[in-house]
Amino acid sequence: MKLSCLSPPLPQIKPELLAEIAQALTADGCRLLIIAKPLAQRAQIFSYGLQPRNSTPIEKHLLWQDILKPQTTTTAETSLTEVYLIDRIWEHPTLAPLSISFAAAGIQSLLIVPLRHNQQCIGCLTLFRSRSNLQWTDEELKSARRLALNLYFAVVQQQVEQMFQDRAYRDLLTGLPHRVLLDRWLNFTLTKMSATGQFLAVILINLDRFKNINDSLGHRCGDRLLQLIATRLKHTLGASVIVGRWSGDEFALLIPELRDIDAVKTVADRVLGSFDLPFVFEQDFQALKTNSLYIKIGMGIAIATDDNLDQETLLQQADIALRRAKNNGKNSYEIYDPIAADAVTIGTSSPQLNRLRLENMLDRAIVDRKLFLHYQPQIDIQTGTIVGIEALLRCQDHHSNTINPADFIPIAEETGSIIQLGEWVLRTACNQSKLWQEMGLGDFPVAVNFSVKQLQDRNLIDTIAEILTETKISPATLEVEITESIAIKDLDLTISILESLREIGVKISLDDFGTGYSSLAALKYLPLDRLKIDRSFIRELKLNTIDASIVSTIVNLGHELKLNVVAEGVETIEQFELLRSINCDAVQGFFFSRPLAAADLETMIITGSYWHHNCTHPHNLLSH
Ligand code: C2E
Ligand code: MG
Ligand code: MG
Repeated sequence: MKLSCLSPPLPQIKPELLAEIAQALTADGCRLLIIAKPLAQRAQIFSYGLQPRNSTPIEKHLLWQDILKPQTTTTAETSLTEVYLIDRIWEHPTLAPLSISFAAAGIQSLLIVPLRHNQQCIGCLTLFRSRSNLQWTDEELKSARRLALNLYFAVVQQQVEQMFQDRAYRDLLTGLPHRVLLDRWLNFTLTKMSATGQFLAVILINLDRFKNINDSLGHRCGDRLLQLIATRLKHTLGASVIVGRWSGDEFALLIPELRDIDAVKTVADRVLGSFDLPFVFEQDFQALKTNSLYIKIGMGIAIATDDNLDQETLLQQADIALRRAKNNGKNSYEIYDPIAADAVTIGTSSPQLNRLRLENMLDRAIVDRKLFLHYQPQIDIQTGTIVGIEALLRCQDHHSNTINPADFIPIAEETGSIIQLGEWVLRTACNQSKLWQEMGLGDFPVAVNFSVKQLQDRNLIDTIAEILTETKISPATLEVEITESIAIKDLDLTISILESLREIGVKISLDDFGTGYSSLAALKYLPLDRLKIDRSFIRELKLNTIDASIVSTIVNLGHELKLNVVAEGVETIEQFELLRSINCDAVQGFFFSRPLAAADLETMIITGSYWHHNCTHPHNLLSH
């Protein structure tokens, strides 16, 4: 195919149209330039009435060439083009070479209006006036701009329509419009959409096992199948849907002027229905002993409801939806849905990409209000009263799925956003603690987990002091949890920070105790209030097991060091009873309550329902 074939044929403009334009804008003459794209054809110029008397077209002059250049910036009012007004031609320095030809015709002022939409310019309209006293009014300039936009659409529409007539834009095998034309049509229709308020849909259809058919039955059979499918699609869909061949075994349906999304589904259903019947060939396939083939397809649908979507994005969306439909493995279609699309992309994308998404989200999480805290109570094993509440960070992705801290805290630590997140957690937990105190729920401390990066942050102590002042809570109602492994990483640093915290009056607990392989001797140097036994020891906790001895030893050790000992991850009554029998001080776990939203926890505290409903209250257990 020659390149010139790919240039859309230039449209014909009726002479009356220019006369009407001149009359509407009180011009004595006008001319219209239409540029051919790509530049394989000659540009066209149509003229009416008074014209400058020169041999080369004025549009070759620098002034016009500058105006016709593609623009890199768009004006705020993108749908309307700029106009260029020169009222007294003889005073315009760049027009000096043309001044004689204008003067000879008596032209005194001119108005140039590019036919442009967004960045695309397809020509310009130039209007002449012979009477300089007749100023162009604002109203006229506005009309000129509106007219240019309409002309733009009319010209492009004509170009696209002519392409549909032109065999050069059709696929040789099926006779359907091919990709170049479909692309051009999409581009134009999307551009026009803002003006019409309608929307459009693209459906990509992909055949299942086409390669298989080609390989096993031969390419001629494959070709014939494509022809049969093309005919069936055209018959099924009629003239309101453009059926095109997109690539090898892919067809595209373009549905313009949609007012109703359901109409797209109707089209898709009709297409699916049309594949229920087999495709009948002229001869039997010997290998199959039949002349008919059943074909399955997958369809991906993307819908453009505004002109902000460029055709590339729209096609990408259709392609994503198509991949989802194909994953279903049956005759089906999928409509592009940004949420599902993310799932597809996440599913098929690299771990690096997933991570990047998470990083991005974490950076914006506070601004986007994707963060919240859940709270889990710690219960005194003897009295059944609440002795503390741990604040646990939650993050919601844009599908409203909650992401576990174990998945995002390490990333937030690496990217450094943990400092900001940590500060947010502290402030939110302190505010909540203040609220609970005001409600009279109790003056138990609210515990906040700290990460290693936060401990290394030089401003940490100042930040905490600031938040305490700001929220007006007593320092003793804030507890800081540091995991054992973090604490022993840099013992000197930990000791100095914990001492500063203690000076302020904040409580300190050592989290996940038993997993950090700390030397027990190190424990005595750390200014602590509480030890939290890691839940890995509690999980298998049964009488006379090694875990039971370990937990018992930890409890005794904690008591030796005058620490309050809390068992984490208590899920069963057996675990609870055993912990009680070895004098553990407090318990935290699903047996009493999962981490809950603040309001749910309040209800639980007020109703006292934080023990398992099938089991006896801790008070009663004591009296067994
Ligand atoms: P953690 O501080 O040891 O928190 C206790 C974890 O155990 C929580 O997991 C909690 O939901 C879970 N848990 C509580 N009771 C039970 C139970 O009976 N059974 C089981 N299987 N699990 C139970 P979560 O919320 O997923 O938090 C995991 C870790 O993420 C926390 O462990 C903590 O180290 C970290 N984390 C949570 N919030 C923050 C935060 O705001 N900042 C920092 N730096 N880390 C946080
Ligand atoms: Mg904790
Ligand atoms: Mg823990």
